[in-house]
Amino acid sequence: PSILFWHRRDLRLSDNLGLAKARDRSAKVVGVFCLDPQILQADDIAPARVKYLLGCLQDLQKSYTRAGSELLILHANPDEGIPKLASALGARAVYWNLDVEPYSQQRDRAVRAALERDKIEVRTFWDQLLHEPDAIRTTTDKPYTVYTPFWKNWAKRDKAEPVPALDGAIALSESERQSARNAGVRELPELAELGLTWDADLLLEPGENAAREQLEWFCDRPIFDYDEQRNFPAKNGTSSLSAALKFGAIGIRTVWAATVEAEGRCRSDEARQGVETWRKELAWREFYQQVMYHFPELAEGPYRDRWKDFPWENNEAHFQAWCEGRTGYPIVDAAMRQLNATGWMHNRCRMIVASFLTKDLIVDWRKGEKYFMQKLFDGDLSANNGGWQWSASSGMDPKPLRIFNPSSQAQKYDPDAEYIRQWVPELASMDTECLISGNISPLEREACGYPQAIVDRKVQVKRFKAMYAEVKS
Ligand code: FAD
Repeated sequence: PSILFWHRRDLRLSDNLGLAKARDRSAKVVGVFCLDPQILQADDIAPARVKYLLGCLQDLQKSYTRAGSELLILHANPDEGIPKLASALGARAVYWNLDVEPYSQQRDRAVRAALERDKIEVRTFWDQLLHEPDAIRTTTDKPYTVYTPFWKNWAKRDKAEPVPALDGAIALSESERQSARNAGVRELPELAELGLTWDADLLLEPGENAAREQLEWFCDRPIFDYDEQRNFPAKNGTSSLSAALKFGAIGIRTVWAATVEAEGRCRSDEARQGVETWRKELAWREFYQQVMYHFPELAEGPYRDRWKDFPWENNEAHFQAWCEGRTGYPIVDAAMRQLNATGWMHNRCRMIVASFLTKDLIVDWRKGEKYFMQKLFDGDLSANNGGWQWSASSGMDPKPLRIFNPSSQAQKYDPDAEYIRQWVPELASMDTECLISGNISPLEREACGYPQAIVDRKVQVKRFKAMYAEVKS
């Protein structure tokens, strides 16, 4: 009898903890990925993200063939489909790697219960984090709710080494393959068959090899300049690994090992600072995952009580203008157009547009959070929710109110307006100073077909602060 390995956010054969454990126990390991209608038909699905997912699955199928086994694609609700497939294959056990999201946890409980009813063993592992959600706790044995002390504790812990890749596995027999088909196994669909379209190239090619090459590229050089370069959206100064980390096209232990190797090649304090700052981002990723695990209510609404009844104005025309990159604020529009065109946005700009939506347009952050999920190819509940609650000041961030001024942000981080010119081409010939400050006359705007500012942000921010003072008291 075989072991069925259920892939979810770990679309790779190398450095995959649960899969390595399955292979330790038996050579007959078969992979399965379940195309879950609850996820694929949800209203926050992003075509770019599904394109990346399907590409990773295609790549994973090839890797399985090379390793001697195969990846089955199941079209079903997991709580019915996985137990049915396991029984059809006569599997002795089903293995998987755990996830922090509330939906995943509830789904996993249902699948486990159904398998155990059928007397099929279940074994689970923490693979997507360097430290599992209960490992890093405060001195009073509570989960951390503030990042900096979490980071200090996280950084000093030993990190595990990558685990061996699946290899030398034994394939299914023809009759087992037939049983798998009877249990709902089908071909991998094309994006269009799922009713979705996404024509643009993705920032990162799907699959394990592309993710590994990207990590090598980043750790060869850009990581050493990361501390200085990471805030400039016109520069290629960040790793672009977010989707690979979200879907597990690369293992987090492999990523960590690459930073250790890079650290050994540092020749200056600046280079060492680059590595350290990048590790801090990896820790942000883990911080937001561990808070989502311990405080699943974050997925539903604000962490801080005072925001629960905040009188958001939710002006629909303003929200639409923000979505489409037509607010009349150049840096905001550039960022939203980058998101719409590529399915990705630079981190600095995510913070700028999130602050603008919540503090300047006074629109509920949950609308922005959802729009991001509908577009981002790296869209991830924990990181996205964390980023939005941070920007809205409704989350765990101890600083009470953060309000970003788009023109001072552009001044600092897009000083030559290179990013603005790239994404707002109708403004390309305008003076840098005008682009950064947003001081463009109504006539000039009209002449080049660029929208008038939809709000006067000075007025709006004043109003926002007054509303905030009210809820605070
Ligand atoms: P790098 O700068 O190279 O960072 C390395 C990795 O660290 C990233 O790939 C990512 O996995 C992790 N990381 C970096 N910054 C953060 C952060 N602030 N929070 C959590 N993890 C982080 N990231 C997502 O992966 N998915 C999202 O849906 C998402 N939504 C966001 C929404 C808002 C409003 C904000 C402010 C941030 C959001 N982020 C999200 C975090 C961050 O913007 C992206 O991870 C980053 O821009 C991805 O580019 P990169 O891979 O080049 O990152």
